[in-house]
Formats: sequence, structure tokens, C-alpha cells
Amino acid sequence: MGGSKKRKKDPHDGESPVDTSSDTEDNMEKYQVFKVSGYSRKYPENSPKSEFIVFLAHKDEKQLFTDKDRLAISHSIRKHCINGILHLKPINKYKIGITFDLSNNANVFIQNKKFMDELGLKASIPAIDTEVTGVLNSVPIDLSNKRIFSLIGSSRNVIQVRRFMRRVRNEGGSVSYQPTQTVAVTFASTELPQYVYLDSWRHEVSVYVPPVKQCLHCLKFGHIAKYCKNAEVCSVCTQNHNFKNCTEDPKNAKCNNCGGNHIAISNTCPQKKLKIEENKIRSKATKFSDLFNENSFPQLTMRNIETQVQNLTKSEPRLR
Ligand SMILES: [Zn+2]
Ligand SMILES: [Zn+2]
Ligand SMILES: [Zn+2]
Repeated sequence: MGGSKKRKKDPHDGESPVDTSSDTEDNMEKYQVFKVSGYSRKYPENSPKSEFIVFLAHKDEKQLFTDKDRLAISHSIRKHCINGILHLKPINKYKIGITFDLSNNANVFIQNKKFMDELGLKASIPAIDTEVTGVLNSVPIDLSNKRIFSLIGSSRNVIQVRRFMRRVRNEGGSVSYQPTQTVAVTFASTELPQYVYLDSWRHEVSVYVPPVKQCLHCLKFGHIAKYCKNAEVCSVCTQNHNFKNCTEDPKNAKCNNCGGNHIAISNTCPQKKLKIEENKIRSKATKFSDLFNENSFPQLTMRNIETQVQNLTKSEPRLR
């Protein structure tokens, strides 16, 4: 029933790190991704961009956009007098994009609940235009993600803290996750700060290279199984069945993406390698803020943190 899968963890895993910190959370919670609650994406008001896109999808994500939907959207835009639209365009069969002239018009639109409810739609702003993730190294393992959030000092609002966990296969075949000293921090900003401070310890922020997204259902790149709308494809023989039911010898595997002699999720796949390189190149384009250096770093107080949280949880379409 309500219990999450994680709770099923074998208690005999032997994972019992000594907790010397004042954290009261148990170990499972300790390394859970910490997200600022109530945060929703908004375009920054001082954005240098000239176009601000908002994605629309049906509340039922598997529902296609029909001609009828197009007309209904146009009608509702007139009815609700939506301001600042430059154009509309289909993104794919399930998603359309509305491009606005000003950040504020886009921010106001995504909160137009009446418009969305009338048409059974939901709106979102892409993360790439509003958020940036950096990586910190040498972060003491005992610190929980939540604790890191409360200790972090940065000129940018932090919206998520996630420690990298190492997947370990135990002798009995069970799998457990062990914390590493590397932590990913997501900022509500389009530029990475050069440094952040953890309890006065300065940590350099490096660019986060996201892993290649590969769907374990259809094996295509760019989405994950949770959102897959394609037929299931076997990673061994490319037929439409689960790989567990495959009778083909893995030695004869055929990759669904490149046709090569390897299973489709293999990192040796030339197509996958290309995607990994693309991710690296894209990540290298991340801008670092030159406004942020140690001299301009504001003294961190509890008040800063509170204000930071308040700013992010406010419902007004404003991020300061
Ligand atoms: Zn898929
Ligand atoms: Zn198969
Ligand atoms: Zn391949």
C-alpha cells in the first residue's frame, strides 16, 4: 500500500555508518534527494532572453493533441485575453509550446489555473532555462542532503541537493547504495556560482554532466521508461518483448539503435558514446557567474537561509 519500494531494503545489508552528527533523520532519509518544497519554475525577471516558452500537455500525458485541441486552445487564449504570445507550435504529438515575449507574461500564464482546468491541460517551464546544476567534491559523508542545504552559502538560491550514491552489489546478490563525497546542487539560476560555502569551507563548483537518458522500455535515447509511449523493445534481439523473456544468446545481441553486435544499453554503443559526448559539450557551455567570488560572498546567517526558503516558497510569480 502506501509504503515506498525503498523501505523494502534488506535490514541485513550491513550498512550501518556511525552517525556522529546531530542529524536525527534515519539513514534512508539522510540521502534522499532534498528539494525545497513549494518551488515551481519561473523565468527570472532580468533574463537576457527574448523568448520565453511554456509547454502545454494534457493532464493525461498519453493524450494526443488533435485539431480540436488546437482550436480550443486558440479560443481559450482569446477568451482569457492571454497577453504577450509570440507564437504557438507543436513540440511533439503530446506537447505544444507557447512562446511569450516577456518572462512575466510566461510566469503569469503558467499559473492561470482556470485556463488549464478548462482544457484539461498542465503547463511547465523547461528546467534548462531556469535552473543549473553544479557538483561539489569532498563533502563529508555524514552530512545529510537536508543538512547540506541548511549549511550552504551561495549568492544563488539553492533548490535541490542530491548526493551521488554508489550502487554496490552485495555478496548475496542484493543491491545497496553507498554515499560518495560528491554532491549535486541545483540553483534557481542560469549561471553557476564559482564557489559555494559549507560551514565556511569553500567548495569549488564544477559543471554537472547529466547521464545519457536511455529508455529501458523502448531503448531510445532522450526519455525514460516512466514517460515512454512506444512499444517495448528487447535489448538483446530488438523484438517486441522483455529481455527477460528473450531466447536469443546475448553473444548474438543486436543493438536496436545502431545495429551493432552488443546489447542496446551497452556503453560501447557508438550512438550512446556520441550522446555522452554531446552531453559533455552541452554542459561545458554552462556559464559561470563572475559576479560571484569570495570577496562578494555575503556573510551567511540563519536569516539568509530563512529568506532564501521564503523567497522560493512564495506563490507570487517573482523570484526577487
Ligand atoms: Zn521509450
Ligand atoms: Zn529478445
Ligand atoms: Zn549500439
